[in-house]
Amino acid sequence: MAQIDDLPPLRDVIERHDLRAKKSLGQNFLLDLNLTCRIARSAGDLTNHTVIEVGPGPGGLTRALLHEGAKRVIAIEMDPRALGALEEISAHYPGRLEVIEGDALKVDMASLVDEGPVRIVANLPYNVGTQLLLNWLELDPWPPFYESLTLMFQKEVAERIIATEEDKAYGRLGVIAGWRTHADKLFDVAKECFSPPPKVTSSIVHLTPKANPLPCNLRSLEQVTAAAFGQRRKMLRQSLKSLNVDHLALIEDAGLDPTQRAETVSVEGFVAMANCLDRMRN
Ligand code: SAM
Repeated sequence: MAQIDDLPPLRDVIERHDLRAKKSLGQNFLLDLNLTCRIARSAGDLTNHTVIEVGPGPGGLTRALLHEGAKRVIAIEMDPRALGALEEISAHYPGRLEVIEGDALKVDMASLVDEGPVRIVANLPYNVGTQLLLNWLELDPWPPFYESLTLMFQKEVAERIIATEEDKAYGRLGVIAGWRTHADKLFDVAKECFSPPPKVTSSIVHLTPKANPLPCNLRSLEQVTAAAFGQRRKMLRQSLKSLNVDHLALIEDAGLDPTQRAETVSVEGFVAMANCLDRMRN
Protein backbone atom coordinates (compact mmCIF):
# COMPACT_ATOMS: atom_id res chain seq x y z
CA MET A 1 0.00 0.00 0.00
CA ALA A 2 1.24 3.49 -0.81
CA GLN A 3 2.46 5.73 1.99
CA ILE A 4 1.24 9.14 0.85
CA ASP A 5 1.13 10.89 4.22
CA ASP A 6 2.02 10.27 7.85
CA LEU A 7 -1.51 9.29 8.74
CA PRO A 8 -2.23 5.70 9.81
CA PRO A 9 -3.25 3.00 7.28
CA LEU A 10 -6.96 3.02 6.47
CA ARG A 11 -7.56 -0.41 8.02
CA ASP A 12 -6.34 0.96 11.36
CA VAL A 13 -8.47 4.07 10.96
CA ILE A 14 -11.57 1.98 10.33
CA GLU A 15 -10.89 -0.22 13.32
CA ARG A 16 -10.02 2.62 15.70
CA HIS A 17 -13.16 4.60 14.80
CA ASP A 18 -15.35 1.49 14.69
CA LEU A 19 -16.35 2.24 11.10
CA ARG A 20 -17.88 -1.13 10.30
CA ALA A 21 -19.46 -0.70 6.87
CA LYS A 22 -23.21 -0.10 6.82
CA LYS A 23 -25.04 -1.36 3.77
CA SER A 24 -27.83 1.17 4.29
CA LEU A 25 -25.29 3.97 3.67
CA GLY A 26 -23.77 2.31 0.58
CA GLN A 27 -20.47 1.90 2.43
CA ASN A 28 -17.80 0.11 0.42
CA PHE A 29 -14.50 1.66 1.38
CA LEU A 30 -11.38 1.97 -0.76
CA LEU A 31 -8.31 1.04 1.27
CA ASP A 32 -5.57 1.32 -1.36
CA LEU A 33 -4.13 4.83 -1.43
CA ASN A 34 -2.40 4.07 -4.76
CA LEU A 35 -5.85 3.63 -6.24
CA THR A 36 -7.41 6.68 -4.56
CA CYS A 37 -4.47 8.78 -5.82
CA ARG A 38 -5.11 7.46 -9.33
CA ILE A 39 -8.76 8.52 -9.03
CA ALA A 40 -7.75 11.95 -7.69
CA ARG A 41 -5.29 12.46 -10.58
CA SER A 42 -7.89 11.42 -13.13
CA ALA A 43 -10.02 14.42 -12.10
CA GLY A 44 -7.44 16.72 -13.73
CA ASP A 45 -5.37 19.50 -12.22
CA LEU A 46 -6.46 20.05 -8.62
CA THR A 47 -4.12 22.86 -7.65
CA ASN A 48 -6.03 26.11 -7.20
CA HIS A 49 -9.22 24.08 -7.20
CA THR A 50 -11.82 23.55 -4.53
CA VAL A 51 -12.93 19.92 -4.58
CA ILE A 52 -16.32 18.85 -3.31
CA GLU A 53 -16.31 15.22 -2.20
CA VAL A 54 -19.51 13.37 -1.32
CA GLY A 55 -19.18 10.55 1.20
CA PRO A 56 -15.56 10.67 2.36
CA GLY A 57 -16.10 7.84 4.89
CA PRO A 58 -12.74 6.99 6.52
CA GLY A 59 -11.04 9.38 4.08
CA GLY A 60 -9.07 7.32 1.56
CA LEU A 61 -10.07 9.50 -1.39
CA THR A 62 -9.99 12.66 0.75
CA ARG A 63 -6.35 12.03 1.64
CA ALA A 64 -5.53 11.42 -2.02
CA LEU A 65 -7.22 14.65 -3.13
CA LEU A 66 -5.23 16.64 -0.57
CA HIS A 67 -2.02 14.77 -1.40
CA GLU A 68 -2.54 15.48 -5.12
CA GLY A 69 -2.68 19.20 -4.38
CA ALA A 70 -6.33 20.23 -4.02
CA LYS A 71 -6.31 23.73 -2.60
CA ARG A 72 -9.36 22.95 -0.50
CA VAL A 73 -11.63 19.93 -0.05
CA ILE A 74 -15.21 20.28 1.15
CA ALA A 75 -16.43 16.82 2.15
CA ILE A 76 -20.08 16.03 2.84
CA GLU A 77 -20.64 12.93 4.98
CA MET A 78 -23.84 11.57 6.45
CA ASP A 79 -22.31 9.07 8.89
CA PRO A 80 -21.29 10.79 12.16
CA ARG A 81 -18.98 7.85 12.96
CA ALA A 82 -16.61 9.06 10.21
CA LEU A 83 -16.16 12.54 11.66
CA GLY A 84 -13.33 11.59 14.03
CA ALA A 85 -11.27 10.06 11.23
CA LEU A 86 -11.87 13.11 9.05
CA GLU A 87 -10.82 15.45 11.88
CA GLU A 88 -7.43 13.71 11.94
CA ILE A 89 -7.00 14.38 8.21
CA SER A 90 -8.05 17.98 8.71
CA ALA A 91 -5.40 18.40 11.41
CA HIS A 92 -2.78 16.94 9.06
CA TYR A 93 -3.68 19.40 6.28
CA PRO A 94 -4.48 22.57 8.28
CA GLY A 95 -7.06 24.86 6.70
CA ARG A 96 -7.58 22.66 3.64
CA LEU A 97 -10.35 20.26 4.65
CA GLU A 98 -13.84 21.29 5.66
CA VAL A 99 -16.28 18.55 6.65
CA ILE A 100 -20.02 19.02 6.47
CA GLU A 101 -22.16 16.47 8.28
CA GLY A 102 -25.38 15.86 6.38
CA ASP A 103 -27.25 14.34 3.47
CA ALA A 104 -25.59 15.41 0.21
CA LEU A 105 -28.99 15.27 -1.53
CA LYS A 106 -30.13 18.15 0.66
CA VAL A 107 -27.03 20.34 0.46
CA ASP A 108 -26.92 23.33 -1.89
CA MET A 109 -23.39 22.67 -3.08
CA ALA A 110 -23.00 25.80 -5.20
CA SER A 111 -23.48 27.93 -2.09
CA LEU A 112 -20.64 26.16 -0.26
CA VAL A 113 -17.96 27.54 -2.52
CA ASP A 114 -16.84 31.12 -2.44
CA GLU A 115 -13.80 30.58 -4.64
CA GLY A 116 -13.66 28.71 -7.94
CA PRO A 117 -12.82 26.71 -9.91
CA VAL A 118 -14.58 23.66 -8.48
CA ARG A 119 -14.31 19.96 -9.24
CA ILE A 120 -16.59 17.30 -7.78
CA VAL A 121 -14.90 13.98 -7.06
CA ALA A 122 -16.57 11.09 -5.26
CA ASN A 123 -16.81 7.38 -4.71
CA LEU A 124 -20.57 7.69 -4.50
CA PRO A 125 -22.87 5.68 -2.26
CA TYR A 126 -24.69 3.46 -4.77
CA ASN A 127 -28.12 4.09 -3.30
CA VAL A 128 -28.08 7.83 -4.09
CA GLY A 129 -25.43 8.06 -6.83
CA THR A 130 -27.76 8.34 -9.82
CA GLN A 131 -29.97 10.93 -8.12
CA LEU A 132 -26.92 13.04 -7.19
CA LEU A 133 -25.69 12.88 -10.78
CA LEU A 134 -29.10 13.95 -12.11
CA ASN A 135 -29.16 16.86 -9.64
CA TRP A 136 -25.76 18.00 -10.95
CA LEU A 137 -26.83 17.56 -14.59
CA GLU A 138 -30.10 19.41 -14.14
CA LEU A 139 -28.73 22.56 -12.52
CA ASP A 140 -29.99 25.89 -13.64
CA PRO A 141 -28.30 28.13 -14.77
CA TRP A 142 -25.98 26.22 -17.11
CA PRO A 143 -22.96 26.00 -17.37
CA PRO A 144 -22.96 25.00 -13.69
CA PHE A 145 -20.69 26.02 -10.80
CA TYR A 146 -18.37 23.03 -11.29
CA GLU A 147 -15.69 22.41 -13.90
CA SER A 148 -15.92 18.61 -13.85
CA LEU A 149 -17.43 15.56 -12.18
CA THR A 150 -15.23 12.52 -11.54
CA LEU A 151 -17.42 9.83 -10.05
CA MET A 152 -17.41 6.16 -9.20
CA PHE A 153 -20.51 4.17 -10.14
CA GLN A 154 -21.44 0.56 -10.57
CA LYS A 155 -20.12 -0.37 -14.03
CA GLU A 156 -23.64 -0.90 -15.38
CA VAL A 157 -24.64 2.66 -14.35
CA ALA A 158 -21.41 4.07 -15.81
CA GLU A 159 -22.29 2.41 -19.13
CA ARG A 160 -25.73 4.01 -19.10
CA ILE A 161 -24.20 7.45 -18.48
CA ILE A 162 -21.80 7.30 -21.44
CA ALA A 163 -24.15 5.41 -23.81
CA THR A 164 -25.12 6.89 -27.17
CA GLU A 165 -27.73 5.71 -29.68
CA GLU A 166 -27.50 2.08 -30.70
CA ASP A 167 -25.67 1.18 -27.44
CA LYS A 168 -27.57 -1.40 -25.41
CA ALA A 169 -27.31 0.80 -22.30
CA TYR A 170 -28.69 3.93 -24.03
CA GLY A 171 -31.59 5.53 -22.18
CA ARG A 172 -32.72 8.62 -20.29
CA LEU A 173 -29.46 8.99 -18.35
CA GLY A 174 -27.39 8.87 -21.56
CA VAL A 175 -29.60 11.49 -23.21
CA ILE A 176 -29.39 13.98 -20.32
CA ALA A 177 -25.65 13.40 -19.81
CA GLY A 178 -24.96 13.57 -23.56
CA TRP A 179 -27.02 16.74 -23.97
CA ARG A 180 -25.21 18.76 -21.31
CA THR A 181 -21.78 17.15 -20.90
CA HIS A 182 -18.94 15.28 -22.51
CA ALA A 183 -18.92 12.00 -20.59
CA ASP A 184 -16.18 9.35 -20.63
CA LYS A 185 -15.54 6.16 -18.75
CA LEU A 186 -11.94 6.24 -17.50
CA PHE A 187 -11.28 2.85 -15.90
CA ASP A 188 -12.86 -0.03 -14.04
CA VAL A 189 -12.25 -0.78 -10.38
CA ALA A 190 -12.44 -4.44 -9.32
CA LYS A 191 -14.70 -5.51 -6.47
CA GLU A 192 -11.69 -6.74 -4.49
CA CYS A 193 -10.42 -3.15 -4.13
CA PHE A 194 -13.25 -2.37 -1.70
CA SER A 195 -13.93 -3.33 1.88
CA PRO A 196 -16.37 -4.98 1.98
CA PRO A 197 -16.36 -5.96 -1.73
CA PRO A 198 -19.59 -5.02 -3.54
CA LYS A 199 -21.34 -7.56 -5.80
CA VAL A 200 -20.27 -5.90 -9.06
CA THR A 201 -17.37 -4.11 -10.76
CA SER A 202 -17.26 -0.33 -10.50
CA SER A 203 -16.12 2.32 -13.00
CA ILE A 204 -14.86 5.87 -12.88
CA VAL A 205 -16.73 8.32 -15.10
CA HIS A 206 -15.50 11.82 -15.92
CA LEU A 207 -17.99 14.44 -17.12
CA THR A 208 -17.24 17.98 -18.25
CA PRO A 209 -20.09 20.43 -18.83
CA LYS A 210 -20.65 21.69 -22.37
CA ALA A 211 -20.44 25.48 -22.43
CA ASN A 212 -23.27 25.71 -24.96
CA PRO A 213 -25.50 22.64 -25.06
CA LEU A 214 -28.28 22.72 -27.65
CA PRO A 215 -31.05 25.02 -26.39
CA CYS A 216 -33.79 22.90 -24.86
CA ASN A 217 -36.27 22.91 -22.01
CA LEU A 218 -35.14 20.28 -19.52
CA ARG A 219 -38.65 19.27 -18.42
CA SER A 220 -39.76 18.72 -22.04
CA LEU A 221 -36.63 16.68 -22.73
CA GLU A 222 -37.39 14.55 -19.68
CA GLN A 223 -40.98 14.02 -20.78
CA VAL A 224 -40.01 12.97 -24.30
CA THR A 225 -37.27 10.60 -23.12
CA ALA A 226 -39.54 9.13 -20.39
CA ALA A 227 -42.27 8.43 -22.95
CA ALA A 228 -39.92 7.03 -25.59
CA PHE A 229 -37.79 4.85 -23.30
CA GLY A 230 -40.78 3.87 -21.14
CA GLN A 231 -41.68 1.64 -24.09
CA ARG A 232 -38.25 1.24 -25.64
CA ARG A 233 -39.17 -1.75 -27.83
CA LYS A 234 -42.06 0.14 -29.42
CA MET A 235 -41.84 2.49 -32.39
CA LEU A 236 -42.04 6.23 -31.64
CA ARG A 237 -45.48 6.39 -33.27
CA GLN A 238 -46.72 4.15 -30.45
CA SER A 239 -44.54 5.14 -27.48
CA LEU A 240 -45.07 8.91 -27.84
CA LYS A 241 -48.88 8.64 -27.77
CA SER A 242 -48.67 9.14 -24.00
CA LEU A 243 -47.51 12.76 -24.51
CA ASN A 244 -51.12 13.65 -25.39
CA VAL A 245 -50.20 15.92 -28.32
CA ASP A 246 -50.30 15.29 -32.07
CA HIS A 247 -47.33 12.98 -31.66
CA LEU A 248 -47.07 12.06 -35.36
CA ALA A 249 -46.69 15.77 -36.23
CA LEU A 250 -44.14 16.11 -33.44
CA ILE A 251 -42.03 13.23 -34.77
CA GLU A 252 -42.20 14.58 -38.30
CA ASP A 253 -41.39 18.19 -37.24
CA ALA A 254 -38.35 16.86 -35.39
CA GLY A 255 -37.16 15.25 -38.65
CA LEU A 256 -37.52 11.70 -37.32
CA ASP A 257 -39.17 8.59 -38.66
CA PRO A 258 -42.27 7.36 -36.75
CA THR A 259 -41.08 3.76 -37.13
CA GLN A 260 -37.83 4.48 -35.26
CA ARG A 261 -37.39 3.14 -31.75
CA ALA A 262 -36.06 5.28 -28.87
CA GLU A 263 -32.70 3.51 -28.85
CA THR A 264 -31.95 4.70 -32.41
CA VAL A 265 -32.68 8.39 -31.75
CA SER A 266 -29.62 10.59 -31.13
CA VAL A 267 -29.43 13.19 -28.37
CA GLU A 268 -29.98 15.84 -31.08
CA GLY A 269 -33.15 13.97 -32.13
CA PHE A 270 -34.49 14.00 -28.57
CA VAL A 271 -33.69 17.71 -28.24
CA ALA A 272 -35.55 18.38 -31.50
CA MET A 273 -38.60 16.46 -30.22
CA ALA A 274 -38.50 18.31 -26.87
CA ASN A 275 -38.44 21.64 -28.70
CA CYS A 276 -41.40 20.56 -30.88
CA LEU A 277 -43.29 19.51 -27.72
CA ASP A 278 -42.66 22.98 -26.28
CA ARG A 279 -43.98 24.67 -29.42
CA MET A 280 -47.11 22.50 -29.44
CA ARG A 281 -47.89 23.18 -25.80
CA ASN A 282 -47.26 26.94 -25.89
N1 SAM B 1 -15.05 7.85 -0.08
C1 SAM B 1 -14.93 6.66 0.72
C2 SAM B 1 -14.06 5.66 0.00
O1 SAM B 1 -13.84 5.85 -1.21
O2 SAM B 1 -13.59 4.72 0.63
C3 SAM B 1 -16.29 6.04 1.05
C4 SAM B 1 -17.16 5.72 -0.14
S1 SAM B 1 -18.61 4.81 0.27
C5 SAM B 1 -18.95 4.05 -1.30
C6 SAM B 1 -19.91 6.03 0.30
C7 SAM B 1 -19.86 7.05 1.46
O3 SAM B 1 -20.97 7.95 1.32
C8 SAM B 1 -19.99 6.46 2.86
O4 SAM B 1 -19.01 7.04 3.69
C9 SAM B 1 -21.40 6.86 3.33
O5 SAM B 1 -21.51 7.01 4.72
C10 SAM B 1 -21.60 8.16 2.60
N2 SAM B 1 -23.01 8.51 2.31
C11 SAM B 1 -24.05 7.68 2.06
N3 SAM B 1 -25.16 8.37 1.76
C12 SAM B 1 -24.82 9.68 1.84
C13 SAM B 1 -25.54 10.89 1.65
N4 SAM B 1 -26.82 10.89 1.30
N5 SAM B 1 -24.88 12.07 1.82
C14 SAM B 1 -23.57 12.08 2.17
N6 SAM B 1 -22.83 10.96 2.36
C15 SAM B 1 -23.45 9.78 2.20
